[in-house]
Amino acid sequence: MVLVKDRKLSFGERCYVKSIVAGLLYTFSNLFKRKVTRCYPEQKLAPGPSFHGVPVLVMDANGHPKCVACGLCEYVCPARAIRIVATETERPIERTPKTFEINMLRCIECGYCEESCPEEAIVLSQQYELVASTRGEMRWDLNRLLTPEAALGPRLGYIRKTFHRFEADPRSEGTARAVPGKGGSGAGASGAKVASALERYRDGY
Ligand code: SF4
Ligand code: SF4
Repeated sequence: MVLVKDRKLSFGERCYVKSIVAGLLYTFSNLFKRKVTRCYPEQKLAPGPSFHGVPVLVMDANGHPKCVACGLCEYVCPARAIRIVATETERPIERTPKTFEINMLRCIECGYCEESCPEEAIVLSQQYELVASTRGEMRWDLNRLLTPEAALGPRLGYIRKTFHRFEADPRSEGTARAVPGKGGSGAGASGAKVASALERYRDGY
């Protein structure tokens, strides 16, 4: 058994004078410090390249999606937010999405789709304001997802630096990986890159 004796409080402590004065001094000392809070939405956030905004599809200079409809992003998405229907195309990439939908109500902006994509075709944008009046409006289709590559430059630079995914693969001697922006979606390259990405995914990359 433990006996606990109540400490006798002084008059000042019983009136909370000491605590009130300490609180006021702390408040006044912070009045003239630099403000760290932001008056959103009047003051918008300017996200850096590491920011995880909503995922979008990269559109090449000809207005086509870079996506080859391999389905990797759909497979890895933990929220099951992506739905793709593939079709054939006359372009060198051979396959392209007929429909590509991301349900932004499900998306948790984790970036797994971006990390798994062998074509740098899906990346996290800097958009963070999602407003809709119906559930249907939150299902973004191909047209809404397509974003010019130039507008995604900072993020693309960031993920190239972070993932080192376009450096030579040390496990396959003499097999240089494709360089983004220099024929990354060229004829014959897609199958090898998809196979390589699948291998890395199975290895826990
Ligand atoms: S960011 Fe994550 S949750 Fe959103 S679509 Fe990509 S993989 Fe799915
Ligand atoms: S992983 Fe990339 S190339 Fe494959 S379906 Fe998704 S966006 Fe398209």
